Amino acid sequence: MTRPALPPRIRSRAALGLTSAASQQRFVLQHCSACGHSQFPPQEFCGTCLSARQVWRECTPIGTVVAEATLHHSLEPAFTDEIPLRTGLVQHETGCVLTAFLHPDCTVDAPVRLSLTLDRGGSAVVTATPAEKDEPMGRCSYSPKDRVCLITDGAGPLGDALEATLVKAGAAKVLTRPAECEEADIVIDTSWLAGDLADLGAHAVRAQALADRLGPGLAQRQGAWVSVLGFAAIAPYPACPEHSARMAAAQALTVALRARLNALGGGVLAVYPAFTEETLACGVEGQPLSPEKLSQALVSALESGQEESFPDPSSRLWVERLAGDRKSLERELAFVVG
Ligand SMILES: [Zn+2]
Repeated sequence: MTRPALPPRIRSRAALGLTSAASQQRFVLQHCSACGHSQFPPQEFCGTCLSARQVWRECTPIGTVVAEATLHHSLEPAFTDEIPLRTGLVQHETGCVLTAFLHPDCTVDAPVRLSLTLDRGGSAVVTATPAEKDEPMGRCSYSPKDRVCLITDGAGPLGDALEATLVKAGAAKVLTRPAECEEADIVIDTSWLAGDLADLGAHAVRAQALADRLGPGLAQRQGAWVSVLGFAAIAPYPACPEHSARMAAAQALTVALRARLNALGGGVLAVYPAFTEETLACGVEGQPLSPEKLSQALVSALESGQEESFPDPSSRLWVERLAGDRKSLERELAFVVG
């Protein structure tokens, strides 16, 4: 099996902070707590005062192009098909100068909108789009248009909504029977949402077998696997230990699959709604996200290549809390849920 060429994937530990933000398509810069200097690329120490007190700060993604270049030759095989490729330097409003992939319409001295996004190898890159354009420029899309999609559990309202949304987005074919599927470009695994703890081990084995069967081919065709999970996958709901254990197992397998498929050129995305009809059936209390809205969030994530999606206000709030104060979120979930 021929592997697609991937962009360079090695990053320093400091630079992995950019990858973390890019997986959720948040725009951050490294900021020095000692002197206030922002810097790019990220480093262990401040380039101005040498302090090690470096933090990530969410910033307005606005800048100005200060230089541009068009590459007509690259020693990286991954870029061969994209040549000529525009790159440049963009000065952020903090004064920080970033290297970025430029949209063809970007010009020197013009304002641009910056985006932090993942490339085909799963690493963070910066892109710049003219400020007046609505859509940011991504470096990696798994759009379902003209692709074969498989929904692992197509029964019920979510399966129906997903099928309708994928068809509307231009999917060539939407399948709902994993056993009869020989190859799919996009697999949407909805099988973790319902089920009891007694079946967890057997379900994990089935999920692994399906990933082993379809994953490598999917990655070679630069497709994606999407795990439809719940927020309990990354922060357990104290009132619902069985649901939380099931989600934690699904998260572990999703992360492992991502490492495997990223190395082969495929993507592994995950969606983490706070509440769905399935989580309510487990005794969780909250306003469930409708199957239609969950489906739209999932297809948007595929189109923009967003690795982790938090598609409702509660999940977005909680993931911010999780980054800064895991323990207080544990207490909050004990009161809010159940
Ligand atoms: Zn400093």
